[in-house]
Amino acid sequence: DVDTAAVRKLDSAHFIHPFTDHAALADKGARVMVRGEGVYLWDSDGNKIMDGMSGLWCVNVGYGRTSISQAVYRQMETLPFYNSFFNTTNLPAVQLATLLADLAPPSFKHVFFTSSGSEANDTNVRMVRRYWDLLGYKDRHTIIGRINGYHGSTVAGAALGGMSGMHAQGGMIPGVAHIGQPNYAESGRGMTEAEFGIVAAGWLEEKILELGPEKVAAFIGEPVQGAGGVIIPPSTYWPEIQRICDKYEILLIADEVITGFGRLGAMFGSELMQIKPDLITFAKGVTSGYVPLGGVLVGSRVASVLIDKGGDFNHGFTYSGHPVSCAAALENLRIIQDEKLVSAVAVDTGPYLRQAFCALASHPLVSHPDACGFVAGLNLVKKKADAVYDCEPFGSDDGVGMICRGHMFNNGIIMRAVGDRMIIAPPLVMTKVQIDEMVGRIRDALDATLAD
Ligand code: PLP
Repeated sequence: DVDTAAVRKLDSAHFIHPFTDHAALADKGARVMVRGEGVYLWDSDGNKIMDGMSGLWCVNVGYGRTSISQAVYRQMETLPFYNSFFNTTNLPAVQLATLLADLAPPSFKHVFFTSSGSEANDTNVRMVRRYWDLLGYKDRHTIIGRINGYHGSTVAGAALGGMSGMHAQGGMIPGVAHIGQPNYAESGRGMTEAEFGIVAAGWLEEKILELGPEKVAAFIGEPVQGAGGVIIPPSTYWPEIQRICDKYEILLIADEVITGFGRLGAMFGSELMQIKPDLITFAKGVTSGYVPLGGVLVGSRVASVLIDKGGDFNHGFTYSGHPVSCAAALENLRIIQDEKLVSAVAVDTGPYLRQAFCALASHPLVSHPDACGFVAGLNLVKKKADAVYDCEPFGSDDGVGMICRGHMFNNGIIMRAVGDRMIIAPPLVMTKVQIDEMVGRIRDALDATLAD
């Protein structure tokens, strides 16, 4: 049994939480999670809650997989740690690198391991700059990201991302620029979605020409922006981005920390978006979050320079290729493959979720719900209209997203609020019956929000 009040007291006395206003937290104290099973969590007050966010977009195979904990235990008993610096390697890391080369799109035969998505994106920054240096283009160092993109919390990750609040808090470095996000609901007025996709991709070309193509090393983007609010781009967007990158020979980095390993109904979101990136960032779903692991999949264009003629790459982490993390990933990826979770999201539970979630459009608070695989989002609006930009939004002081999020918790479902946008990314194992339960809980919470 957990003494919730005592835990909360210690928590508030000692634990600095990420992205948390501690003065506000001190009033009510943290929710203490104690157990997970399948798509459900239990807190220390005994509440059973459906996890609509897979922890933090990561618990793809659901909670309570004993085969993963056993794989971790076995590896800890055999070789809990050794580094992979210089000329040393270990079995799980080699096996995982081989498996990832098999699962990734064809040009990817190499992987660099980290412990997180942020470290992986830092690795990207150093890798693309090294790539151009080796080719003799020492000025070609600028990386272009997007407003509201999220690429992590290390200094370089925060700079690549487009969260103004993070830039304002010491998160900017030289050699990074940003363009707008392909948010049709926000910026597509007067255009079809297809037209807007071309226009939004065109912002990349404008930025490249403004900076000078000889200065631009790479473009980085999430196939579907996650933390920025589940922004699903028009189908024309990514192919046009690819065309522009090709035209100026700019490296394309797909940050697949959320979209990798099945979340969009493809092993990698790049496949769904029909792009051929040069580097792919991964983390989260590679272990379903059971232990930390991330990395960069390195395509042949970069590998042929960095590995074949690169000499030393002066970069690495103590935990690069951690044997325990790699053992967990191997078992997690076995589950994803054996249980055919990717094709389920593509053709069965994914389309079902989309239909059930989009039916929330009938709710008076909801405008333009949308889904792609197992991510989905809807806008909360004061007054609805046919086009989302004609809806009447809530005032920023209303804080309706956070109010709604509270009602979601009280109705036993975890949903995330990004401003007035409510988003979900449930575990890939969620069944149709559970999807109905989830959407029912969301509808009840929306009713409660309306009544407030
Ligand atoms: N990239 C994307 C797209 C993410 O969503 C995240 C985390 O949410 C990161 C990078 C950072 O990963 P981590 O928190 O493991 O450092």
